[in-house]
Amino acid sequence: MKVAKFGGTSLASAEQIRKVCDIILADPERRLIVVSAPGKRSKDDTKVTDLLIALAECHLKNEDTAKELEAVVNRYREIAQGLELNSAIVSLIESDIRERLSANTSNPERFMDAIKASGEDNNAKLVARFLASKGVDAHYINPKDAGLMLSDEYGNAQVLPQSYDNLKSLRDRSGILIFPGFFGYSPDGTLVTLPRGGSDITGSILAAAIKAELYENFTDVDSVFSANPNVVDHPQEIKELTYREMRELSYAGFSVFHDEALYPAFSAGIPVCVKNTNNPMAPGTMIVFERRSSANPVVGIASDSGFCSIYVRKYLMNREVGFGRRMLHILEDEGISYEHMPSGIDDVTIILRQDQLDVEKEARIIARIRDELAAEDVVVEHNLAMIMVVGEGMRHNVGTTARATGALAKARVNIEMINQGSSEVSMMFGVKAVNAEKAVAALYDEFFVPVRV
Ligand code: ASP
Repeated sequence: MKVAKFGGTSLASAEQIRKVCDIILADPERRLIVVSAPGKRSKDDTKVTDLLIALAECHLKNEDTAKELEAVVNRYREIAQGLELNSAIVSLIESDIRERLSANTSNPERFMDAIKASGEDNNAKLVARFLASKGVDAHYINPKDAGLMLSDEYGNAQVLPQSYDNLKSLRDRSGILIFPGFFGYSPDGTLVTLPRGGSDITGSILAAAIKAELYENFTDVDSVFSANPNVVDHPQEIKELTYREMRELSYAGFSVFHDEALYPAFSAGIPVCVKNTNNPMAPGTMIVFERRSSANPVVGIASDSGFCSIYVRKYLMNREVGFGRRMLHILEDEGISYEHMPSGIDDVTIILRQDQLDVEKEARIIARIRDELAAEDVVVEHNLAMIMVVGEGMRHNVGTTARATGALAKARVNIEMINQGSSEVSMMFGVKAVNAEKAVAALYDEFFVPVRV
């Protein structure tokens, strides 16, 4: 039994949904199908999830929601018409959303999650109905009945361990099962959503629970590329990646696959394949435990912006017992998580996602580190990008760092920070965000473009 997940662009229109159903029916082992909400039909289009967020926000502000509701329902109406489905399904979808809108709003995050999740939920019902209309034995699966249990962190939930046991029995169900991605239920029965893009995570959880032979993740590109195609012209396709490599790449901006989606599949030893709904014959990218080593130590180069750093200096920091703990405690107090923390003898830099700070919080943190830790210097630098050079081969290869730093120097990109060590599969460079694309292009040239003589 395979789990196949289809992303938003794969389900954005009737035409796309027909392709998806052809793919499902082409392989009798594709029996557990995870669907996203309808995504963008073109570059300037809006995802249904974003339309739903706008709808919920409008309702929470007590504004008239007629226009926003119509925008959502219209997307389903268009799809249903294109699939020649009876309009009853559209009425059902509309009343489902109206019912969710009539719920209590005393907890706005809970309300938001319920509205957001309707995108996947209604799309799963629609796809199941379409397959059934073609005489296929297809069933919508309700995540609550199936036992997908998540922590009660609205918009950012994590899977609870009991889910795996609960979901196991899906294996014994007959027919094709259409499971909505992106949400589950907390132990007290409240709907909660995973982080944005979380349908990938749902698929991975299901694949692990039913011990799938393969987890196929259908998206809109032929494979994972070795660099962002918007930065590098025709980057190489990656045929095979390890879980660790994919995790590093997706963490640093490869959006093909959610970075939190790898762990469930990885821990259950389920191989993952990233494939293209618009070109299903292309082999895609396989994500596996171990891969054959290749001549190139580097498999991909990623970059992600939106970081900032807090530089803290204090003479003899290395000898002060508890300094690190007390500094991190200040961040914890302020509800901040950090990403990296390279350190020296008398100084340490904390890298974090900048959207966690506002002006007041930043000032408070600086003041607290100065006062409570008697730090001599505390400097915050904004608008940094992290460039990640990834490859299992780097461990066994001499000179990869030298090549990378050489390439950056040649491109006149100043390296603000280097972090290599804890992860054996990646090397990370902090650069000013304005230099990120230049850095990626230079590194790509160094590691992927053959030298012409
Ligand atoms: N529809 C949700 C989002 O846009 C989840 C997903 O597509 O995976 O984030």
